[in-house]
Amino acid sequence: MKHFVCKGGCGGVSEVEGFCEADGCPNQWQPFEECDCEDGKHFMEGNESADSKITVKDSNGNELKDGDSVVLIKDLPLRGSSAVYKRGTKVSNIKLTDNPEEIDCRIEGSAIVLRTEFLKKV
Ligand SMILES: [Zn+2]
Ligand SMILES: [Zn+2]
Repeated sequence: MKHFVCKGGCGGVSEVEGFCEADGCPNQWQPFEECDCEDGKHFMEGNESADSKITVKDSNGNELKDGDSVVLIKDLPLRGSSAVYKRGTKVSNIKLTDNPEEIDCRIEGSAIVLRTEFLKKV
């Protein structure tokens, strides 16, 4: 069903065409944009934010977000060293990257990139 959303970030949604009236919205008094999404995510043309397009998933298909904690589901050898990150190692405060198959994180103070297929959200 067609609806109209504010692109100013206020989250305004209307069933009829109109203007955003939210105080403090950068798009206040700007016309709503037409949208006909069914998932409520209001995909909007011209919205090039990578965050809204890429969905990063762990090995179980659960969505991962910045700041999530994950555990390794596999022993992962660290390239260029003899160290191995053990299965079950917990990693806090992950950061998404531009690549939906990889996340940035820190383990024992080292910045590393992990493949999401070896991770499980906790
Ligand atoms: Zn607005
Ligand atoms: Zn929508």
